[in-house]
Amino acid sequence: MRALISVSDKTGVVEFAKELAGLGAQIISTGGTYAKLKEEGVPAVEISEITGFPECLDGRVKTLHPAVHAGLLAMRSNPEHMKQLETLDIRPIDIVVVNLYPFKATILKDGVTRAEAVENIDIGGPTMLRSAAKNYQDVAVVTDPSDYEKVLSELKAEGSVSLDTKFCLMQKVFMHTSNYDTMIADYLKKERNDHGFPETLTMTFEKVQEMRYGENPHQKAAFYREIGRKKGSLVDAKQYNGKELSFNNINDTNGALELLKEFSEPTVVGCKHGNPCGVASRDNIYDAWAGAYSADKTSIFGGIVVCNREVTKKMAEEMNEIFLEVVVAPSYEKEALETLCSKKNIRVLELKDIEISQDPNAYDMKKVNGGLIIQTIDSELYREEDFKVVTKTQPTQSQLEDMKFGMKVVKFVKSNGIAVVTDKQSIGIGPGQVNRIWPTKQSFEHAEELIGPDATKGAVLASDAFFPFDDIVEAAHQAGITAIIQPGGAMRDQLSIDKCDEYGIAMVFTGMRHFKH
Ligand code: 5GP
Repeated sequence: MRALISVSDKTGVVEFAKELAGLGAQIISTGGTYAKLKEEGVPAVEISEITGFPECLDGRVKTLHPAVHAGLLAMRSNPEHMKQLETLDIRPIDIVVVNLYPFKATILKDGVTRAEAVENIDIGGPTMLRSAAKNYQDVAVVTDPSDYEKVLSELKAEGSVSLDTKFCLMQKVFMHTSNYDTMIADYLKKERNDHGFPETLTMTFEKVQEMRYGENPHQKAAFYREIGRKKGSLVDAKQYNGKELSFNNINDTNGALELLKEFSEPTVVGCKHGNPCGVASRDNIYDAWAGAYSADKTSIFGGIVVCNREVTKKMAEEMNEIFLEVVVAPSYEKEALETLCSKKNIRVLELKDIEISQDPNAYDMKKVNGGLIIQTIDSELYREEDFKVVTKTQPTQSQLEDMKFGMKVVKFVKSNGIAVVTDKQSIGIGPGQVNRIWPTKQSFEHAEELIGPDATKGAVLASDAFFPFDDIVEAAHQAGITAIIQPGGAMRDQLSIDKCDEYGIAMVFTGMRHFKH
């Protein structure tokens, strides 16, 4: 039995090689691996002895030699192959243990140069893996140190690795090499600043965890991390307390975080089922919390709260009085953390770079039956210089501030979405309806029910998309709304503008729609 061992990740390799040698295998190895084995007293021969050729070009050429590849690819069941090996004086190789240059770790390093990344593209490793895997019936090929034990136990028990295991190892190889190449391709795409949609889509994600279930208990689910993404996403968060995040927790928290990232001032977002239910910006984080909570004390029950400043003890005590699923913040006062963690079920997460937004060219993907639809993320927000006051009445400065606040909020409300705002605080949010009048009325009702009958008097209304008719303005006037912000662009915009003028409402068009489905 001959085993060729050439690994970058040397975890467990010494013990594995020792055992293989103990089972009578001849160990062949490359530079660094050979040195390590020798140092630990494992008998091995250098690859150059097999190839009759020195390792050269700084290790770029080590195992790329017919003596290796013919030894891997020869089919033992094919007499012609075996005769040729004999003529060429090449001996077959039965086990290959290879893992590749750490390309991923290299590109994830801060300030990595392209030259460094390129140098970490493994050539001989994948070539060997492919040769060995193609000939899986005769060669056991191990890429993952966690498989060492299984291979050893079969060798010890049966004297060989079973066909079933070899087939499984083969499949792992092609998964591994295709991921590896995809990582390289992705990296190069970013290096070239190519943000197009390639003919075939390849992306690499790595599994963070399997989850107990998906959106519903009968659905299976797992959470994958995107390789090479920016910081500031939930996968980077440190969890202090509570059960592991569920599918819905992750989805909902992600939505709340994306909304939070629109704000630089102290802001708190409360969220439920992927829609914000209370949002407030204030001079300090406690007031922002108090505002977000008072915006909707009902829906926040069992919800998610994300904050962009340190959580104080007082906030934590108030949070503990209600049932929350998840709290996320960049940091916690010591007592705040103790307070929150005293409740067993609340998931408390710390996310350091909470303010970092996604790459604007990042893909937003939706799986549909039979395919995938992809777009760039909705990274844009109104440009103030594009604001068009379309009414006779001009908005006041404070109304303008609330308009901007409302637009940020409604951007993250499922369509059709309406947000009603006063003093940089949502007071009524109407999400996800099939027409626009329902969320409008709903948001007024919420405000009146939760805050008081006059809650909407003098408030600002923000809409994610234009008004097809003037019914929204009519309803807004009846509720006491005095300013409206919306994208505009409807065929019947003039009807809404006229109605605003009739009631003295100020209306601004942004020219930018924010559907969210
Ligand atoms: P070592 O530390 O043993 O010197 O190198 C091990 C690494 O070299 C492994 O990651 C393996 O995939 C890689 N490798 C093996 N043969 C070749 C080769 O011929 N060319 C290149 N570029 N890498 C190789």
